[in-house]
Amino acid sequence: MAFRIGRTLPPAASPIYLRDIVSGIAGLFRGSKAVTRFEGELKKYFGVEHCFTVSSGKAALSVILQSLKAMHPDRDEVLIPAFTCYSVPSAIIRAGLRIRLCDVDAETFDFDFKGLEKIISEHGARLLCILPVHLFGIPADVDRIRNLVEGREVVIVEDAAQAMGGESGGKKLGTLGDVGFFSLGRGKALSTVEGGIIITRRDDIADNLAGAVGALGEYGALEKARLLLYAAALVVLLRPSLFWLPKSLPFLRLGETIYAPDFPMRKMSAFQAGLAHGWERKLHGLKRVRSGKMHDFLERLATRFPWLDAGRPPDLLRLPLRIDSANRRADILRASEASGLGLAAAYPDSVDRIPELKAHFSSFHYPTAKKNAERLLTLPLHKYLTGDDIDRIAELLRSEEWPIP
Ligand SMILES: *Cc1c(COP(=O)(O)O)cnc(C)c1O
Repeated sequence: MAFRIGRTLPPAASPIYLRDIVSGIAGLFRGSKAVTRFEGELKKYFGVEHCFTVSSGKAALSVILQSLKAMHPDRDEVLIPAFTCYSVPSAIIRAGLRIRLCDVDAETFDFDFKGLEKIISEHGARLLCILPVHLFGIPADVDRIRNLVEGREVVIVEDAAQAMGGESGGKKLGTLGDVGFFSLGRGKALSTVEGGIIITRRDDIADNLAGAVGALGEYGALEKARLLLYAAALVVLLRPSLFWLPKSLPFLRLGETIYAPDFPMRKMSAFQAGLAHGWERKLHGLKRVRSGKMHDFLERLATRFPWLDAGRPPDLLRLPLRIDSANRRADILRASEASGLGLAAAYPDSVDRIPELKAHFSSFHYPTAKKNAERLLTLPLHKYLTGDDIDRIAELLRSEEWPIP
């Protein structure tokens, strides 16, 4: 990868401000009260009875799966889209369960519903749960899954990691399934450096979750100090004038998606809950900014976005674009890299082709997921993007050398 000093946009950035750090430190002094308060605010906002906060989105998913496994010991498969964040398979393996994949729809990033129906009818008895993912913030059709599993004991776990604050049909994303989770990681809609939120209206699931989350350890003093330093670094390093610095440090592995089931699982710390202070205003402010940038892009790009056809534009985290060949995408990414424009691929490969997992999927093929890995490009929408950046990105995508289909 080219090393570059100078103005560089991060592909995604959820800003942390100095005042958030001050609130974080205040949270440390309030202790568990800060966490209880944050959970209370979340319950009210989402209109749910139960909320649990943990150290990451993958930790959230893993405790959800452990809890469901305890409720349905005869079921061991988790059905996920073949193109999704590597944290998802990591959390499934961590919970000691099996991954069942379904290819995705080329236009919506949601499940390929024909394939989904077939899997449910053939493997319904072993399925513990199905995981619709609101990828990039585009709402997945949870109601359609609900209809397909009607009369079966299959739980719907809504992966709203990228969709906090988003809505579909007037309902908040994360509340459409039986249980939902969000990530408060670095590139998400709202960030506390790292963090995860679980919400549910189901008392039976919440009872089990309370046990599983209660058994998790706490962040130690050293770990809290690490979070504080990391948060302080993010206050300045996400700025385009400085982002080249962390980007050039390979050990930070910025922007890398890795498969790693041995991640830490903890209860959320009071520091993180404190960092989130005033989160509702911040979340909606950032969302307004991103939707403004998205409109600017849509005005400048003569591309059809199929997921836009259905009604109100969704609240996106990044704007996904399908390029007509892998080579052309590589050219565009190289040009973006050279001028620090923050374009990025989505995930490096489909889940079945992750080296540590591929032995399990040798007889399966997920062509659309594979194509997404090869051809998807995502455009940044965060607040550090200027009108000039948007013009330059649109120009790059429009230019003779890289025409868009
Ligand atoms: C980020 C993400 C997760 C995991 O969240 P972490 O906080 O990074 O562990 C899960 N699913 C999706 C779709 C994500 O984007």
